[in-house]
Amino acid sequence: MAEVIDGNSVAAEVRERVAVAVRDFVAEGGPQPGLATVLVGDDPASKIYVRRKGEDARAVGMASFHHDLPADAEQREVAELLRELNADDAVHGILLQLPVPPQVDADAMIDLIDPLKDVDGLTAHNAGRLMHGRSGMVPATPAGCMELLRHAGAELRGAEAVVVGRSLLVGKPMAALLLAADATVTHCHSRTRDLAAECARADVLVAAVGRPHLITAAMVKDGATVIDVGMNRGDDGLTGDVDFDSVRHKARAITPVPGGVGPMTRAMLLENTLKAARAQAAAMTPTQRD
Ligand code: NAP
Repeated sequence: MAEVIDGNSVAAEVRERVAVAVRDFVAEGGPQPGLATVLVGDDPASKIYVRRKGEDARAVGMASFHHDLPADAEQREVAELLRELNADDAVHGILLQLPVPPQVDADAMIDLIDPLKDVDGLTAHNAGRLMHGRSGMVPATPAGCMELLRHAGAELRGAEAVVVGRSLLVGKPMAALLLAADATVTHCHSRTRDLAAECARADVLVAAVGRPHLITAAMVKDGATVIDVGMNRGDDGLTGDVDFDSVRHKARAITPVPGGVGPMTRAMLLENTLKAARAQAAAMTPTQRD
């Protein structure tokens, strides 16, 4: 039976590490790190997410600033707010909660965020730096998955790693991080011909799809480490992309949903905000940092 990787406890360790580092940073004369969240509209799930991000930031000694814009806000208003936050020295991290309403072009808005404040790691600048293997902001969810893999003692060097899903937020940076850790990476998506056969080769399998229980035991190699990013809300509550009950009999280690990757995403966002505050305090451009 697989070890169940406890995301809540690893996330608590990360939060503690960040809280100590924030205290030290401020004691050494650094500014209090500040995280700004922007919510356009009133999607109930998004409201809960941003509220929790603010609470998390305050709990580790950071300042949090929240901005609500109405669901019918014009793109111009969102752009104006992002520019103000870019210029605000008390704000070190900016998080535009996605999705945004259809009249707002999410890509264009992300392009406006100062890469040094892009704690979601979504700007082309930070995505490019990840591809270049240079330091920058790594999206919180895949960064959290890497932390969980380390915690589970998964050997990555030379391992067969399979990532299912190729979003900018999760799948693509996840594959880049595994490649940088010397895994042999196969990247699957909705057009992959034989998903079961690809997954069955994986020593490390990461599912970031958004399809409940897509990954069944028959698709998992004995002894694999399985990371389930999926968060699917249905009548039975929150379920992952992996059929946990059957896969846990084959895997060496597996994350549950809830209580696996979700808490790590929140914790790694705090780590990114601290990193952003440090970089801005040092008043260095990303190029100078390397
Ligand atoms: P997304 O942007 O919708 O991307 C989904 C990916 O899955 C796409 O690349 C798509 O392929 C692929 N896909 C869809 N159906 C497939 C199938 N039948 N077989 C193989 N691949 C398939 O989603 P996302 O933002 O990456 O999120 C993925 C899941 O993770 C969602 O459930 C989301 O809620 C969850 N999530 C969780 C956290 C967390 O903190 N735990 C954070 C972010 C996201 P194509 O590219 O070919 O369309």
